[in-house]
Amino acid sequence: MKLLEGKTLSANILADVKKRAEKIKETISRPPILRVINYYDDSASSVYMNLKLKKAAQVGIDASAIKPDISKGKNHFLSILQEMASDEKTDAIMVERPLPDGFDDWEFWKKMPPEKDPDCISADNNAKLYLSKDFSSISSGNFFVPCTALAAIKLLEYYGYEFKGKKCAVVGRSAVVGRPLAHMLSSLNATVTLCHSKTADLPFHLKNADYIFLAIGKAKWLKENMIGEGQVVVDIGTNFDEKGSMCGDADFDSVSKKVSAISPVPGGVGPVTLAYLLESSLKALEWKVKK
Ligand code: NAP
Repeated sequence: MKLLEGKTLSANILADVKKRAEKIKETISRPPILRVINYYDDSASSVYMNLKLKKAAQVGIDASAIKPDISKGKNHFLSILQEMASDEKTDAIMVERPLPDGFDDWEFWKKMPPEKDPDCISADNNAKLYLSKDFSSISSGNFFVPCTALAAIKLLEYYGYEFKGKKCAVVGRSAVVGRPLAHMLSSLNATVTLCHSKTADLPFHLKNADYIFLAIGKAKWLKENMIGEGQVVVDIGTNFDEKGSMCGDADFDSVSKKVSAISPVPGGVGPVTLAYLLESSLKALEWKVKK
């Protein structure tokens, strides 16, 4: 069984980001500036957000987070976004999910400025993503793409896996992970089955796949009896088990005995996502300077 750890790839990306951030600072006498909006301190994404802020400082990105007051409502959220959008010195904006009910909608996606949108939240970047048919245009760097989906693909590429002709099952169809991942895999000429909570006979689709991507947010959900022999599992889930330890959507101990390769949680897709988020934040300033 091959362990698809993501720390080495993440370190490689971050080393490059650090060099580029130093270069841009020499040119314009300031570092890239990333601002994060985070409503919930106890979410799984908060864990990654804190790591993101720490890593950002290490690679020369000035990153800070704010926690708006939920009781001030949606207009307050949109006005913070508006302020960040018009601030000359804010290069990149990230909004951590989950958001309070009713905030994650068209009004928000429209307000996110596409040139400051490193994780592809804005309507504009999403339109470019879904109108691009092949992966070379998606990864060309001309617009921002969802970093988690990109990280899952880049992790497999790093270990030499190919996609053309492969059967991929993506479990989870959220706008931020499952759906963009399915689209990107299809753009790489894989044949994709996008599964969700209403999928009939899920074990059939899982057993039929060469590669299984998990993004449902349920601790240790995938069991050994739900998969075939020798498959590749990319676990994107970030959950906490009953002991409070971080774990993925796969029951790692049992599933890892049956697969040919699996990404661990923590230490798999997560660190690679983080590196791409910081790279995209830097790119936002690089593109601005180039213009
Ligand atoms: P989400 O918005 O809650 O979506 C969950 C998806 O899983 C939904 O499409 C849902 O189906 C599906 N689902 C739930 N239970 C299911 C089941 N029993 N069988 C089949 N499908 C099921 O979650 P998300 O934002 O995509 O995040 C998913 C996971 O990825 C979370 O653990 C999150 O923390 C993690 N994540 C990790 C990273 C990283 O860098 N590693 C980044 C982002 C997110 P329906 O559509 O039918 O409801």
